[in-house]
Amino acid sequence: MTVRAKKHLGQHFLKDEHIAKSIADTLTETNYNTVLEIGPGMGVLTKYLLKKPFTTHVIEIDSESVEFLKNTYLNLSSRIISEDFLKINISDFFKEEPFAIIGNFPYNISTQIVFKTLENRHQIPEFSGMFQKEVAQRIAEKEGSKAYGILSVLAQAFYDVEYLFTVPPTVFDPPPKVDSGVIRMIRKENYSLPVDEKLFFKVVKTAFGQRRKMLRSSLKSLFLSDELRQSDLFTKRPEQLSVAQFINLTSLIEQDAS
Ligand code: SAH
Repeated sequence: MTVRAKKHLGQHFLKDEHIAKSIADTLTETNYNTVLEIGPGMGVLTKYLLKKPFTTHVIEIDSESVEFLKNTYLNLSSRIISEDFLKINISDFFKEEPFAIIGNFPYNISTQIVFKTLENRHQIPEFSGMFQKEVAQRIAEKEGSKAYGILSVLAQAFYDVEYLFTVPPTVFDPPPKVDSGVIRMIRKENYSLPVDEKLFFKVVKTAFGQRRKMLRSSLKSLFLSDELRQSDLFTKRPEQLSVAQFINLTSLIEQDAS
């Protein structure tokens, strides 16, 4: 028995056992006893996770995959969450317990998975897995590069991100159109910002909303004083600013408003 791949659920099943094992091995196994795999499908990754010393839970939206998992991994049954990851309230399942996230993620919702992780970061010390390569690069990229953007700044404000390896389309069934990339994010020791977090998110999103423009003009909608807009930082474009500079920028804007 196998699961028929459904395109609308982003199903591309990994066929290569070595790669599945290497993805499971990206977890450092520190600071948590529980792991949540998102989108296990037929469990190619799950079976390596089940050999590890932590407790593995999985969340899968596709009822056919859930049936398959129940019949194949008998010990897993009580830890299969048959839901949409984007819709669940994490504390309903994990209370306040810390857990790591892993997966060969559904690519159609991969950035939303990252944003939901960032929202719940107080509970998620580690996150690793496979994305379409372009998204994996965007999360890991540093300032000065084309791929550097909202996702990079927000992820790296709270996590140290590492791009680990690239995976070709040929090891999936059906093969996706693009290369895939595996990353790991380890939460920073200090993952609360010294500035208002909502304002930080707003500054980053507004600046990258017009990434070709200098901050002086892209941040106009934030009603900043002329004096502040004359400062050096405001002659830069968003892709030139490091995460630390975005935090500094937010702090200047906070002081400007007060
Ligand atoms: N990890 C498996 C499957 C990858 S395909 C493998 O490597 O072979 C992506 C998986 O995510 C599919 O099983 C799909 O059904 C599941 N999925 C898609 N959207 C989801 C969502 N919103 N919540 C949970 N699982 C989802």
